[in-house]
Amino acid sequence: MNYVINAILQKAENTHRLELEEIIQLLDLEENTEEQKAFFSAADRVREKYVGNYIHLRGLIEFSNYCKRNCNYCGIRAKNTRVHRYRISEEEIFEIANKAAKLGYRTLVLQSGEDPYFTVKKLKNIVKTIKEKNNVAITLCVGELSHSDYDELIQAGIDRYLLRIETTNAELFKQLHPDDDFYTRMELLRYLKKKNVQVGTGIMIGLPGQTTEMLAQDILFYQELDVDMVGQGPFIASPDTPMAEEKNGDVFTTLKVIAATRLLCPDIHIPATTALATLSITDARQRAFRCGANVVMPNVTPQKYRAFYELYPDKACIGEDSDECRACIGGIIASCGLEVGRDFGHRIKKTPA
Ligand code: SAM
Repeated sequence: MNYVINAILQKAENTHRLELEEIIQLLDLEENTEEQKAFFSAADRVREKYVGNYIHLRGLIEFSNYCKRNCNYCGIRAKNTRVHRYRISEEEIFEIANKAAKLGYRTLVLQSGEDPYFTVKKLKNIVKTIKEKNNVAITLCVGELSHSDYDELIQAGIDRYLLRIETTNAELFKQLHPDDDFYTRMELLRYLKKKNVQVGTGIMIGLPGQTTEMLAQDILFYQELDVDMVGQGPFIASPDTPMAEEKNGDVFTTLKVIAATRLLCPDIHIPATTALATLSITDARQRAFRCGANVVMPNVTPQKYRAFYELYPDKACIGEDSDECRACIGGIIASCGLEVGRDFGHRIKKTPA
């Protein structure tokens, strides 16, 4: 075992603090080496120590694929005229939520494109009605809104808000987002973090022009902002987007970023994302659970809509209905010797020992 890597891993496991250069050295480790295995084992131990052997399930409802933005990577960008657009009615969202709660989900994630049809008034009504009828936590993921809109939604009862930074490199962010501003998004994340709501963010891995140093900076950003959840998946080239011909990200780099995130942010929630499962349907989730991940977001959107929420091609689990998805994920979790979390799965902040 390389003694420099050994020292970095010991420092990470004991203090959860690393310098940029040290994170880069971990992210540069090659697959199937003794050092890489020790890296993933350390992340696995930190996961067990800080968040236990429970995997939290978040039922994902993709309620609209209308989007006013034109993110260059995203299959549901406004300018993609090949997408069949849908909005799920409020009544149907309530039915989906009730069914998911009956299946045992304690958190529902309401996600959509940036769709002005779903005004804050409508969103508040959806959140309140779901929470009145079901004992669930609600995560909202509908993109950039004004401060006052976020305030109203927090008052209406959302427990968490997800807004990925996508990359913390301002130049790369600009290349990806023709109609969005890096500093605005950063400011919104900092605003949310000051409010009474848990904040999730995250990035895509393997973006064109993204370096290992940028990934290491992203992880330091999570730590600095003290985020409560970090979702990270590989970039997957989507047809009918300006990035259709780019190379996909890869599973192994994504797993290394997950492991390093766990070492530096020991008590947060880290999902094994759908994008990761899409690139390796057979075992990506198992591998993610064994190197730091502790959350999974099974899709509970009715099958008739799923194919249209196509952020990227061949999205995992598109042909399954919500009961099948729940059973399959339960099996994967048990096969890893882990258990499904039964509580809301809020972040419980723990000071490093
Ligand atoms: N509109 C909301 C927002 O921007 O936060 C929520 C929906 S957005 C489609 C959800 C996430 O999908 C994005 O944050 C992005 O990271 C991911 N995504 C979109 N296109 C992708 C692609 N081609 N490959 C991998 N992830 C992608």
